[in-house]
Amino acid sequence: MKMMYDPKSSKAEEFINDEEIRASLDYAEQNKHNQALIDSILEKARLGKGLSHREAMVLLDCDIEEKNQEIYRLAEQIKKDYYGNRIVMFAPLYLSNYCVNGCLYCPYHYKNKHIPRVKLTQEQIKKEVIALQDMGHKRLALETGEDPVNNPIEYILESIKTIYSIKHKNGAIRRVNVNIAATTHENYRKLKEAGIGTYILFQETYNKETYERLHPTGPKHDYCYHTEAMDRAMEAGIDDVGCGVLFGLELYRYEFVGILMHAEHLEARFGVGPHTISVPRVRRADDIDPDDFDNGIDDDTFAKIVACIRIAVPYTGMIVSTRESQKSRERVLHLGISQISGGSKTSVGGYADPIPEEEDSSQFDVSDTRTLDEVVRWLMELGYIPSFCTACYREGRTGDRFMSLCKAGQIQNCCHPNALMTLKEYLEDYASPATKEIGEKLIMAELSNIPKEKVREITRQHLLDIAGGSRDFRF
Ligand code: SF4
Ligand code: SF4
Repeated sequence: MKMMYDPKSSKAEEFINDEEIRASLDYAEQNKHNQALIDSILEKARLGKGLSHREAMVLLDCDIEEKNQEIYRLAEQIKKDYYGNRIVMFAPLYLSNYCVNGCLYCPYHYKNKHIPRVKLTQEQIKKEVIALQDMGHKRLALETGEDPVNNPIEYILESIKTIYSIKHKNGAIRRVNVNIAATTHENYRKLKEAGIGTYILFQETYNKETYERLHPTGPKHDYCYHTEAMDRAMEAGIDDVGCGVLFGLELYRYEFVGILMHAEHLEARFGVGPHTISVPRVRRADDIDPDDFDNGIDDDTFAKIVACIRIAVPYTGMIVSTRESQKSRERVLHLGISQISGGSKTSVGGYADPIPEEEDSSQFDVSDTRTLDEVVRWLMELGYIPSFCTACYREGRTGDRFMSLCKAGQIQNCCHPNALMTLKEYLEDYASPATKEIGEKLIMAELSNIPKEKVREITRQHLLDIAGGSRDFRF
C-alpha cells in the first residue's frame, strides 16, 4: 500500500515517508546551484525560527562556495544567539551489555560470543556513580542493551533510584537521561515516574530497507515499532526526547532529511520537537570494522551536517560524544554543538576501577580519551564555558514549557548564570590547580556578561556562597 506523507500521522511510514525523502533529495540536487533559492532560504533561516527538511536539504547540498561560507557563519551566529558560549557536560554510564538484538554495527549483538558480558549490580552502580561524582559529573546518560531477561525495566528503574540516591561528598547526579530500547507505553510511564531527564533513542537509520537489513534479528528488527517509540514515550508523558542517527550506515543525505522529518513530526503532533539530536559516526569496536559500511562521511561533510541541523532546528540541543576526536569536536563546537561528553568510558564499568584489556566490553573505541578535567580546561582555553547545569529539568522546565521559554529567548537569562555557578562548583570540588586558575578568571570575566543587574548581583553572591561551601543554586 502506498504511504502518503503526513507529519501529523502516528504511523512511521507516513511521518518518515520514503517518497517525500526521495523527492526532497531530488529537489535539493536540482537546486544546489540555485542562488536565488539559496538566498531566500538563508534569509528565512536568519529569522532563527528554523527551516523545513526540504529547505535545509538544499543548504546541505549547496555547492556554491561563497554561500557555504554564509551557511557556516549563520550556524555560528545561531549557536551564539541561542546557546552563547556554553557547553553542557555529561557522561555515559553503561549498565549492561547483554543484548538479544543482532545489530550489524554494534559489538553487543547477541552472536558475539567472545565479548565479555557484564551487568552491573546495584553495589557496582554505586561505585561507578561515586567515581563519576568524584570526576565532577552531574548529568548521566544510562545505556543498556535490550534483554528482557537480564535488563528488564525493573532493573533500569532500580538503577535510576540508586543513582539519584547517592550523595558522595558534594557530589550528586542531578539528571539521569536514559538510552534504552524502544518499549511500551507502560514502561515509558514507569521511566517518567522514576524521574528521568531525556529519553534517548537513536534511529540508527531512517531508511526502512537498510534498517531491516542491519537489524536482521531481535525485537529491534521492527522498523515501525522503533520509529514510533518517541510517540509512545511522549504519549506516556515523557517531555524530553533525544533523537539521533548513526552516520555511516546509510547515505547521509537520506538520514539528514529523515531526522529533520522526525523533528517536524514531533513538533506537529506534540507541539514540541526533540530536546536533543545526536550525530554519532560509526566507530571501530570489538568485532566491528567501520570500513564494512560504505557510507562513512568525511570531516567536511560532518561539519556541514552539524551546521545545517543547527540552522534547521535552532531550539534543539546537539550532542557529540567521545566517538569524535578532539580535533573533530573542536571543529563542530562553534557550528552548533551544545552538549559534549567528557572522560567517558564506553564499557560496562570502568569508572571506578580500570578494566584489564581481556575483560574490555566497550561498545566502541573512544577517540577523545582525555579526562574530564582536561576537557573542561580545553573548552575554557577555547573560550567556552563548560556547564554542569541541570536547572530546567529540576525546575520542571521540560517539554513544551522548556521550548516556549526557549522560543521567547527567555532561557538565556538562566543558562549563563547557571553555567557560571555550576562551573564554580566544579572548580571548588574537582578541578586541578591549572584548570581552577583558568576557570576563576573566566567566571570573573563572564560575570559582567550577565545583562540583568539583579541577576548579576544574585549570581555574584551565590558564587561567594559556593566558595564558602554551599551548593546547588539555580535560576
Ligand atoms: S545497538 Fe543496542 S540493540 Fe543493537 S546490539 Fe548494540 S546494544 Fe544491542
Ligand atoms: S538553564 Fe536549562 S537550558 Fe539552560 S543550561 Fe541549564 S538546563 Fe540547560
